Amino acid sequence: MDFTISDDLIELKGAVRRLVAETLQPHDASIEETGHIPEPALRAIREMGLFGTHTPKAYGGLGLDMLGNCLVIQEMAKAHIAYFYTYSMNVHIASKGIELAGTAAQRDRWLPDLASGRVIGCYALTEEAAGSDAAALQTTAVRDGDHYVLNGCKRYITNAPIAGLFTVFAATGSHGDRKPISAFVVEQGTSGLRIGEVFRMAGGQGSLHAEVVFDDCRVPVGHRLGEEGEGFEIAMRCLDAGRINWAAYSVGAAERLVDMATEHAVARHQFGRPLADNQGLQWMLADMAADLHAARLVCHEAAWRYDREPDSRPRVAAMAKLIASEMVSRVADRTMQVFGGAGYRKDVPVERIWREVRAIRILEGTSEIMRHIVARDLLREARRANDPKPGILGGNR
Ligand SMILES: Cc1cc2nc3c(=O)[nH]c(=O)nc-3n(C[C@H](O)[C@H](O)[C@H](O)COP(=O)(O)OP(=O)(O)OC[C@H]3O[C@@H](n4cnc5c(N)ncnc54)[C@H](O)[C@@H]3O)c2cc1C
Repeated sequence: MDFTISDDLIELKGAVRRLVAETLQPHDASIEETGHIPEPALRAIREMGLFGTHTPKAYGGLGLDMLGNCLVIQEMAKAHIAYFYTYSMNVHIASKGIELAGTAAQRDRWLPDLASGRVIGCYALTEEAAGSDAAALQTTAVRDGDHYVLNGCKRYITNAPIAGLFTVFAATGSHGDRKPISAFVVEQGTSGLRIGEVFRMAGGQGSLHAEVVFDDCRVPVGHRLGEEGEGFEIAMRCLDAGRINWAAYSVGAAERLVDMATEHAVARHQFGRPLADNQGLQWMLADMAADLHAARLVCHEAAWRYDREPDSRPRVAAMAKLIASEMVSRVADRTMQVFGGAGYRKDVPVERIWREVRAIRILEGTSEIMRHIVARDLLREARRANDPKPGILGGNR
């Protein structure tokens, strides 16, 4: 493995770091209070090309490889999470299906708008009865001439109220106990598409997570991605990229937390000396730094393999998200402990980040489902040898 970073990437990383410090972080507190990202801040993200970091240059993206993409995310993770929810769907799960399974005409039509941030994308898989068990979805798409008619309800869909494009997964028939799932791109304004409840979440004020309702929504056949029945695989391939991105986000957020905890431990005095002079706190800081270091290596390794070993993507992405999201939760908790009462105050960002990173163990597949994926992969060969019937370890892979 070679994690050498090009000069261009070092420059971009520096530019993103400045963008975060000078243009984004100053709005963190107001986003938390008002639930609104100021337009100039979003424009700055657009102008730097971050809505398309991982989209090929041919479609207006920056064309970074997955490791480069992760390094940018690590910087962006130092600002309010609402920025990431808003722009990152375009980079990964909302656009990935079009990039991976779209025809040339579909890519030409939709990717440039997503990569430039002119249009906000979202990814609509989850339903009330289909969370971890995503294949149990009940939204249907019934063929009617040169259209499909979609009916059903998705929930927790990030960006839905501001989205111009929806990547949607729906059942196109049934074959015994197997339900063929297909993927569609639905444009905002399509008759029969509407936004339902907008959920109030523990963190991420300034980003929107809502129901998407399809009520006899007619979608042209030409908006289907891939063939009928390929939708579940497309959904999972999008998540392979998304999970590595969330691992990178976890690493970036933890880097900020470790810096904050270290600075606070040096600056704050109790018993006539800095907190940092207590070995108990030193060990806490050392555990945080070691935990972060290990997760960063796993994340970068997953990114490196993503570009070179497509077959390993589900497993390395699941491992990276599992390890990094659990790590950042621990680091956030310990940072709050190092800060004491100050860490629990609303005007100090520690408690906000602590709430924000908690979601990463849930979204795009929970930690338990990440373990399922790893175990399934690990046990597949052994099971096959003993029992040719497929196992139950499916779920939100
Ligand atoms: C902030 C946020 C943003 C989101 N954005 C999107 C989005 O843009 N698009 C989208 O489609 N979805 C989105 N989601 C939904 C997210 O992907 C689901 O919440 C997640 O997959 C879990 O599904 P669930 O909430 O139904 O939990 P459930 O599936 O009900 O799980 C509940 C608990 O049971 C555990 N569990 C379930 N099955 C098993 C099992 N077999 N073995 C062991 N444990 C199990 C889970 O790990 C979890 O701890 C978002 C969620 C959040 C919180």
